[in-house]
Amino acid sequence: MNNLLNEILDHNVKFVENHEYEKYETTKFPNKRMVILTCMDTRLLELLPKALNLGNGDAKLIKDAGGLVSHPFGSVMRSILIAVYQLQAQEVLVIAHYDCGMSGLKAEPVIESMKERGITQETIETLTYSGIDIKQWLHGFDNVNESVEHSVDIIKNHPLMPKGVPVHGLVIDPKTGKLDLVVDGYQN
Ligand SMILES: [Zn+2]
Repeated sequence: MNNLLNEILDHNVKFVENHEYEKYETTKFPNKRMVILTCMDTRLLELLPKALNLGNGDAKLIKDAGGLVSHPFGSVMRSILIAVYQLQAQEVLVIAHYDCGMSGLKAEPVIESMKERGITQETIETLTYSGIDIKQWLHGFDNVNESVEHSVDIIKNHPLMPKGVPVHGLVIDPKTGKLDLVVDGYQN
């Protein structure tokens, strides 16, 4: 584990020296005029772009645990708005996936793990008294389709979202890359 950073830095020197970056050269504006919100799952790292026929430069890509908009004024929603207003994204795709780590995730085991790693009960309680509902914050989702619909709804109806931007909702199979359509943004 201690060598991870060194491995990255060593590779990086060669990558740049060999001009391997040249085949990735593009601009900050998405060729396909879209912004995608998806999950940070490792299985989607290469699979999702391949399954959607996306190359470097084709889309703005936002990732978090679950592909969730957990707060209408959090950094995910801000990123979507920046993509739409400043970076020429004209459509939004929310792509969750089956077998997601956030599916059925309960807060309690996460909090237990935190305590095992040295976070004190006092800290948890201080946050709770400060008005942070840590259990709600850590809670995942129970149904992936409903979760996608909910995120689409938050984005679509956000007070700062311009009208006429299609917001689509999909679920991807993390093994085959097959997409299931949950919300067709052109129909809403
Ligand atoms: Zn996931």
